[in-house]
Amino acid sequence: MEAHRISSTKPVQSLKPTKKIPLEEDTGKASDALPLPLYLTNALFFTLFFSVVYFLLSRWREKIRTSTPLHVVTFSEIIAILSFFASFIYLLGFFGIDFVQSLVFQPSPDVWIAEEEDDEVLLAKEEARKVPCGQALDCSLPPLPPAAPIVTVQKVFDEKPVTVLTEEDEEIIKSVVAGTTPSYSLESKLGDCKRAAAIRREALQRLTGKSLSGLPLDGFDYESILGQCCEMPVGYVQIPVGIAGPLLVNGREYSVPMATTEGCLVASTNRGCKAIHLSGGATSVLLKDGMTRAPCVRFGTAKRAADLKLYLEDPDNFETLSVVFNRSSRFGRLQGIKCAIAGKNLYIRFTCSTGDAMGMNMVSKGVQNVLDFLQTDFPDMDVIGISGNYCSDKKPAAVNWIEGRGKSVVCEATIKGDVVRKVLKTSVESLVELNMLKNLTGSAMAGALGGFNAHASNIVAAIYIATGQDPAQNVESSHCITMMEAVNDGKDLHISVTMPSIEVGTVGGGTQLASQSACLNLLGVKGASKETPGANSRTLATIVASAVLAGELSLMSAISAGQLVRSHMKYNRSSKDVSKAT
Ligand code: ADP
Repeated sequence: MEAHRISSTKPVQSLKPTKKIPLEEDTGKASDALPLPLYLTNALFFTLFFSVVYFLLSRWREKIRTSTPLHVVTFSEIIAILSFFASFIYLLGFFGIDFVQSLVFQPSPDVWIAEEEDDEVLLAKEEARKVPCGQALDCSLPPLPPAAPIVTVQKVFDEKPVTVLTEEDEEIIKSVVAGTTPSYSLESKLGDCKRAAAIRREALQRLTGKSLSGLPLDGFDYESILGQCCEMPVGYVQIPVGIAGPLLVNGREYSVPMATTEGCLVASTNRGCKAIHLSGGATSVLLKDGMTRAPCVRFGTAKRAADLKLYLEDPDNFETLSVVFNRSSRFGRLQGIKCAIAGKNLYIRFTCSTGDAMGMNMVSKGVQNVLDFLQTDFPDMDVIGISGNYCSDKKPAAVNWIEGRGKSVVCEATIKGDVVRKVLKTSVESLVELNMLKNLTGSAMAGALGGFNAHASNIVAAIYIATGQDPAQNVESSHCITMMEAVNDGKDLHISVTMPSIEVGTVGGGTQLASQSACLNLLGVKGASKETPGANSRTLATIVASAVLAGELSLMSAISAGQLVRSHMKYNRSSKDVSKAT
């Protein structure tokens, strides 16, 4: 059988089964304790073994001839016996294991076993192939034949488990490249998400002529994202997670996970956490908790649009509408409806609580129920779209800044004067002045919308990525006004951040993925709160705001002390020659 060795950077090449790849030991050292080349130690112990065997046998023969008892041994015989055991143990250890293995595991003559492949990994892969991907699979499609014995190896990343592509895979790769098998259908056709990703990746490399080496494929559970988090995967991007903290907020300490590639960010937030901690901690208060969705509906006249607006905003109709809305979920509870008219078009902004979910799906389902219900009394209502941008999701919009979206939080701390001096290396006075001129006046001059802060989005984005939030919602989740004031006769600093639209959840979306779930677990807010639905996501929002407070404190201090450029040069402009990094 012909075999292929596929590298992630090169097209597939035919390779004949070749002689055994030299084991690392063949050219390595015997051990740290015996730093000789292996061939020398092997020769040494071989010689020793046969020499002492010869010596002991000749001594034995001599004793028999002279009728000397066998247990009477001379010093040289003791040395010879010890050398015999030492060399025997060495040779057994070195060659014995391979010999036993070769007896137990008889290689199939037509299989090219990859030396680098770990047996357990191979077994796991074979097992995984038998398991269907889950409910999103299209079971009507006949599954492709199971993978044949392993004939090829793709070494994707470092020394870690490698992806195995089979001859059947090779045929599928060719058909994806030729366009006869759609890339998106691989998961449902194969019933193996990992294999689908490996095949798609190889096909993509061939189609584009570009290498994906460096983008890892192995070490990720592709089943967990199927039909939920990402389509047509070819690998995953690695983002380091740093920890800032302990962050003391509302009397509890949190270690805050931040996924970022921006040098300085975690260190700076960590410094802010320290200043807060030394000053007695922060207080974070949740003001509002309601996700929004605003469909756009159109009528023949502005009068009819106004009729619906009046109907929806009439308190007498709220109960009926909420019963209809709340049917969508155990957790979605309608809180209010706010309408905006543009001529004949009506934008209806529904707000509802969503338990521990960020809630976009939940609120959309409730809205759909209400629209279906309204169609009876307003048959002339034309639903233009379930989202009419008055929600407003993932776009900077005053409606979120003013009305709030998701969780609205205010967080404060009073930082002691000596902490400002010793930890933050600045003064209360210069911080207050900088905040006024930068975060308030400067942002006003720039016509900012919710951007009255130094870098809230830095902290929000890093925590969102680490904890499986929707990073696109960073747009409005980072709306923040940072206030600073000298208190206690000008000795101490009062700092607050007010963030009206933090959109977070601890169930649904990316929160259930292994890495993200681990980060939520670290914060003690993983999954649904058993005692009070919604408590976990609300706590997460207060942590986000408090971490932003820490980030604001530290960056503002660095700017006021003139440290910003210096520290960025230190942490962001590493002098390390990355091309030589191992
Ligand atoms: P989102 O609405 O944020 O997009 P999902 O659509 O995944 O998230 O909804 C969350 C799912 O989790 C729903 O099916 C809901 O019934 C379920 N769920 C279980 N426990 C909770 C909880 N405590 N809070 C909110 N949803 C929960």
